[in-house]
Amino acid sequence: MTQPLSIAIIGAGLSGLCLALALHQEQIPCVIYETRAEPLDIGGAIMLSPNALRILERLGAYERLQPLGYDFDQLYFRTEDDQLLDTFEFGGKDKFGYRGMRVYRFELIKVLLAMLSEVDITPQYGKKFSHVVSEDEGSVTWAFDDGSSSSASLLVGADGIHSRVRSCMHPDASPIFTKMVGVTASIPTSQLGVDADYTLPVTIMNRKHGAFIAAPQRKDGSEMFIGKQCPFAEDLDRPGWDRVLNDRQWCIDFLRKGQEDYPPLVGRAVSKLDMDKINLWPFYLIPKLTSWLSDKGRVVILGDAAHAIPPTAGQGVNQAFEDVYTFSRVMAGLQRSPDAVASLVLRRWQDKRQLRVDGVLELNASINKRRLPSALGGPMAAEGFDLRWLYDIDYEKFVEEIMGSA
Ligand SMILES: Cc1cc2nc3c(=O)[nH]c(=O)nc-3n(C[C@H](O)[C@H](O)[C@H](O)COP(=O)(O)OP(=O)(O)OC[C@H]3O[C@@H](n4cnc5c(N)ncnc54)[C@H](O)[C@@H]3O)c2cc1C
Repeated sequence: MTQPLSIAIIGAGLSGLCLALALHQEQIPCVIYETRAEPLDIGGAIMLSPNALRILERLGAYERLQPLGYDFDQLYFRTEDDQLLDTFEFGGKDKFGYRGMRVYRFELIKVLLAMLSEVDITPQYGKKFSHVVSEDEGSVTWAFDDGSSSSASLLVGADGIHSRVRSCMHPDASPIFTKMVGVTASIPTSQLGVDADYTLPVTIMNRKHGAFIAAPQRKDGSEMFIGKQCPFAEDLDRPGWDRVLNDRQWCIDFLRKGQEDYPPLVGRAVSKLDMDKINLWPFYLIPKLTSWLSDKGRVVILGDAAHAIPPTAGQGVNQAFEDVYTFSRVMAGLQRSPDAVASLVLRRWQDKRQLRVDGVLELNASINKRRLPSALGGPMAAEGFDLRWLYDIDYEKFVEEIMGSA
């Protein structure tokens, strides 16, 4: 391939920051542009599974996260009368090499930013990507909203679910609102009033009011994330969602509604809520895209921009990290193979990544089916999911298969 001299990344979210670190490890220069004025703390923790933790370890971030995250192996699902219904493996040291981890999103962002700063990479804040100006065999030029423009060998859109970079390639592929929202909050774990041996993190299923989730956060589990998912008919724009979120009483009522139909721990959990710790999460997904690459192959999208995934199996950011890591390895492989046609290799990368994303979407569907109202209250499902394909991925083999015939 023509030597990629520089990669420009749009978006300093989890995908963009992790990508910069992965590219740096492969000695590929990059620059990051972020629309916000500074890193944003939207609150809340995310769950990292072994497939992503393996990547973070290779990038040197895992040992920095370890003192910050809450480790666990299983997610527990209980009926509305608090009987164990189902479990879902999220990690396991012996089986997958890593326990699952819940870590504050902002802590993870801070770790990635600190590591980037140590190698002199600082995102350029206040730079909003506008549109691609031109693209040829060797470079791409794009414009920012402030009227400035820039060029690079490759432009990577890591700009999230409402990606503008994606809309340059797929103007009709708008995010689809799933008509579900989650309202979340955090409380002291003691407020839950459960014994130390109560199964956590837990999702309490309820036919009438939706699922209620309680998941420990911080290393010592001293804080509890709580949340409820429910149907919400109307799709809103950003200011509309902000108005819903700012109507804290609506959010509190949402969390408290129907509490008498759940086990008593739910009533205790929602009895005292700190207004500042409430968050709203409308669930969107992206229709399956025909391509994550522009026609000339100089613009690529990844992470939520390419495939926002509903939260069922907790794989959104975990799949984004898979994109990022395999992309950086493929780019390094391309630098070593001057005769390879970059766009063909990147299309193979996309195909193989899409297969994994499809696998997660199928897994989501199986999990949802298993927890349909007709299944609730029945005996606990005897067979678990075999998740080795998901958590135990061999990244070397994955990249070799892409580069093999390059
Ligand atoms: C409440 C909540 C909880 C979640 N929990 C989990 C979980 O437990 N496990 C999990 O795997 N996933 C979880 N997810 C999903 C996960 O957060 C996403 O998959 C992940 O954040 C995707 O990262 P990203 O970097 O691709 O996109 P984003 O995090 O959306 O980052 C995109 C970045 O691009 C910037 N940007 C956007 N437009 C432009 C532009 N035009 N120019 C420049 N910059 C731009 C944005 O400001 C942002 O910084 C959760 C999501 C939410 C909302």
